[in-house]
Amino acid sequence: MSATILDGRRIAADIRAEAGVQVHAIRQSGHQPRLAVVLVGDNAASAVYVRGKVKACAELGIASEQVLPPADISTAELLKVIAGLNANPAVDGILVQLPLPAHIDTQAILVAVNPDKDVDGFHPLNVGNLVAGRPSPRPCTPAGIIEMLRRYQIALEGKEAVVVGRSDIVGKPMALLLLQENATVTIAHSRTRELAAVCRRADILIAAIGRPGFIGREAIRPGAVVVDVGMNRLTDRTALERFYPGDERRRAAFERTGSTLIGDVDPVAELELAAAFTPVPGGVGPLTIAMLMANTVAAAQRHISRRKLAR
Ligand code: NDP
Repeated sequence: MSATILDGRRIAADIRAEAGVQVHAIRQSGHQPRLAVVLVGDNAASAVYVRGKVKACAELGIASEQVLPPADISTAELLKVIAGLNANPAVDGILVQLPLPAHIDTQAILVAVNPDKDVDGFHPLNVGNLVAGRPSPRPCTPAGIIEMLRRYQIALEGKEAVVVGRSDIVGKPMALLLLQENATVTIAHSRTRELAAVCRRADILIAAIGRPGFIGREAIRPGAVVVDVGMNRLTDRTALERFYPGDERRRAAFERTGSTLIGDVDPVAELELAAAFTPVPGGVGPLTIAMLMANTVAAAQRHISRRKLAR
């Protein structure tokens, strides 16, 4: 069987292009959509993610501002920063880059973001809206996956979907969005018994675990659609040979940098067994930022229509 590679980069480019058209229309009406990104401290990985988001904004004509409090800011001080952004009518979207330093009360910060400016969909009100199937900003990674499956015309209704991972950011919202699409959804996690057997039931298998190549051939039903959310750094040369036999480009990059990016699914197994799968990199990753742009544009549109109504 030759598997279809689900090209997240292409879908993300389409979503961004569509957002760009909407940004243009909004700017014609006299407003520039604006995203504020709050990055506390100097976490190197977070800084890379934030740079990617700021760059994506610039490409689309969305204004962005980075708010960079020091690592030792208190929860109370950070709440004031959020309050300032909430009150600023020029700011349409607020994103607090996670993880926050351990001494900060993350839940208190997420609750403080105006739900209407919550472009990550992490505010409890928006989580509740998601559970109830009401419109609200949806978390970017799972929303991007649904959008990709839709654009590849992969039907979800009545399908067995298994989501491995139950984080608030990926696993849980993913399961809820699949349920909304009328899939029959199972959520698996570290305490699930017979994990491979549970996964093998899946027509649609979503892996959001954070363990390199963890989902092996025994867990993939032949003909399944496999979506690999995982982003892990692989530094073990033996594992590299096992997961990417004969992949000279990847091996050369590994020699240069000492690591390679791998998902949660064994790439050899999915290539052999899946009907379609997302590669790592180039699968789910690009969709996340594209949906952040779409959520920011949607927030700007909501704010404009509300201002019009208030006039
Ligand atoms: P978390 O660490 O928050 O959650 C991981 C989940 O995997 C948990 O629910 C955990 O179960 C489950 N898990 C861990 N070990 C096992 C196991 N042995 N068997 C079954 N389940 C297990 O991670 P995230 O959800 O934040 O991220 C998951 C992965 O996705 C990471 O690699 C991350 O880098 C990547 N990611 C990628 C994004 C993208 O844009 N491509 C965006 C966000 C994340 P339990 O709850 O029982 O502990």
